[in-house]
Amino acid sequence: MAAILFDGAAIARQTYARLAERIHALGQRGIQPGLAAVLLGDSPVSQIYVRNKVRACVAAGLHSEVRKLDADCSEDALLTTIDQLNRSKRIHGIIVQLPLPSHLDAKRILQSVAVEKDVDGFSWHNLGALVEGHPTLVPCTPLGVMIMLDHAGITIEGRHAVVVGRSNIVGKPMALLLIARGATVTVCNSKTQDLGKYTAMADILIAAAGKPRLVTGEMVKTGAAIIDVGINRLPEGKLVGDVDFESVESRASWISPVPGGVGPMTVAMLIANTVTAAEHHVGQSRI
Ligand code: NDP
Repeated sequence: MAAILFDGAAIARQTYARLAERIHALGQRGIQPGLAAVLLGDSPVSQIYVRNKVRACVAAGLHSEVRKLDADCSEDALLTTIDQLNRSKRIHGIIVQLPLPSHLDAKRILQSVAVEKDVDGFSWHNLGALVEGHPTLVPCTPLGVMIMLDHAGITIEGRHAVVVGRSNIVGKPMALLLIARGATVTVCNSKTQDLGKYTAMADILIAAAGKPRLVTGEMVKTGAAIIDVGINRLPEGKLVGDVDFESVESRASWISPVPGGVGPMTVAMLIANTVTAAEHHVGQSRI
C-alpha cells in the first residue's frame, strides 16, 4: 500500500491561520512583528529563498526588510548592518541568508545577531537551550519537521528515529528535538559505514544529507515514517529530495514529497519564530 503524504503546504496553511490570532493580538498592542533578511551578493538561489520569505511575511501581515550588501563587502560593514537591525524597534527577527562568501567568518557573523532576534535559532544561547531541553527560538527546518510528525499523529516517544546528516542547521537540532521528545536517536554522517543498516532500523527517518535519492526502498523499514529534508537540483533541472520517492513510498507508512513537504514548513516556522520574538519583545513569551 502506498504511503500517506505529509502535505507540508497544507500544514503550513494551518500554521499561518493559527499565527494570525497571535499577530492580531500583537497588533492590538501596537506591535507589527518585523523580519529583516540580510542578503549578500546576487546568487539566484539565495535571492529566491529571500523572496519567498518576504512574500510569506507580507501574506501573514508582518513587516519585512531586506538589506542587500555586495558579495565582497567587508566583515565590518556586515556587522554594522546587523548591529543596526539588532537595535531597530521595527525588527523582531533577523536572518542572514546562507551561505556567506568565504572571506567572511560565518560563525562570528551569526553570533552577532541578538539572541532575542535570532529567529533562525543559530545562536549558541538558543542552541544551548535546545541542548538543555528547554527550546527557545529553534532552527526552522527541524521545528517544522516536528510539527509535521505531530500533525500526522506519529508517536515519537519510545520510537527509533534515524537522522541522516549532522549539520548545525538541520541534523543536530533535529536530533536534539527528537531526544527531547523521548525518541531513541541515531545520527548518521558521510563517514557512516553501511548507512542502510541504520536507516532500516528507523521507525522515523529524517533524511538531511543533500544527496539526491540517497535513501532507497530497500534501506527503509516497512511502515516507517519518512521525512525528506533534502533539496537537490539534478543536472536536467528537476528538483529531488534525498529519498528515492518511487521505491520508498510503497514501503513507508508516511512520506514527505519534494517539493511541497518540508520546504513550506521551514518558511512557516520562520514566521512563527518572528511572532514569538515579537511576543518576547512585549513580555508575552520568554526566550
Ligand atoms: P550540509 O551539507 O550542511 O550537511 C549535510 C550532512 O549530511 C552532513 O552532516 C554530511 O555529513 C551528511 N551526509 C552527506 N552525505 C552523506 C551520506 N552519503 N551518508 C550520510 N550522511 C551524509 O547540509 P544541510 O544540513 O544544510 O542541508 C541538508 C539538505 O537539506 C540539503 O539538500 C539542503 O538543501 C536541504 N535543506 C532543506 C531545507 C528545507 O526547507 N526543505 C532547509 C535546509 C536545508 P558530514 O558532516 O560527515 O559531512
